[in-house]
Amino acid sequence: MEFKSGFVTIVGRPNVGKSTLMNVLAGEKVSIISDKPQTTRNAIKAVITRQDFQMIFIDTPGIHKPKNKLGEFMVNIAVDTLNEVDAVLFLVEATDTNPGAGDIYIVEQLKKVKTPVFLIINKIDLVKKEHILPIISAYKELMAFEAIIPISAINNEGVDIVLQEVRKVLPEGPKYFPDDMLTDQPEKMLVAELIREKILHLVSDEVPHGVGVEVIQFKERAGKNLIDIQANIYCEKESHKGILIGKEGRMLKKIGSLARVEIENILGTKVFLQLWVKIKPDWRNSEAMLRTLGYNRR
Ligand code: GDP
Ligand code: MG
Repeated sequence: MEFKSGFVTIVGRPNVGKSTLMNVLAGEKVSIISDKPQTTRNAIKAVITRQDFQMIFIDTPGIHKPKNKLGEFMVNIAVDTLNEVDAVLFLVEATDTNPGAGDIYIVEQLKKVKTPVFLIINKIDLVKKEHILPIISAYKELMAFEAIIPISAINNEGVDIVLQEVRKVLPEGPKYFPDDMLTDQPEKMLVAELIREKILHLVSDEVPHGVGVEVIQFKERAGKNLIDIQANIYCEKESHKGILIGKEGRMLKKIGSLARVEIENILGTKVFLQLWVKIKPDWRNSEAMLRTLGYNRR
């Protein structure tokens, strides 16, 4: 089966069970789960890796009915962000008979989004089975969902179906994170992998396998929606360094600009990216080097 990967986010009113679902999804298979404040708009909350997919769950700004201009602006940012992910999980509660005002407002926003939206009806453990059908038809009238899946996050019921359904809409893609990784800086790791991916696409065959990328700086510029990122690209030979830099630095420039656009999309901020190419013979055999590159095994 082809390997798929992509970005997923959960939206929904307060108290519908978003955090609970996140924790269950994470389960034992999580590589990352962070609850600390992040500089980027799209902070990585968890990475779920299975044999045939990797899902990166990111935080997006909440959607609440705006009370003023600023609120409107925030909702627009939220909708923009939802357009950048690969799947949106819209979580509601089975205990409501009808979609409430808060839910309907979210639906109105989700209609503007071109990303597939899954309706997840949570807390089915609290209601009788026959209670669920009317909710499904009420929501179906509001909007066309990619799929509608009843679950009980707290009992881990239906959660695997969610993963299987979401996998279907993900693009074929790389494993951004190693299977069993422990890091409190997932964004750094993701950025390194995105840069490496561009190198794989742009540079001739023999070079990329000897290439490692280390993000040495990841820093928000105070008061600006901008992150300064510096990364070292390690290779094993002088000749490889030449190829990576290219004539008059053109290859490195190309790697940098392609990577930057993608990093900006994923992190939801402007990025100033600087790259350096360094020779480190045999870095692949160095434990210390592997640790720097983020390969901390449990
Ligand atoms: P959030 O505000 O959307 O993040 O919601 P939380 O995850 O914090 O959950 C709000 C409350 O609903 C908590 O008391 C959870 O224990 C409860 N809850 C979450 N999922 C379920 C579920 O599937 N069944 C039941 N009965 N309670 C749930
Ligand atoms: Mg929560």
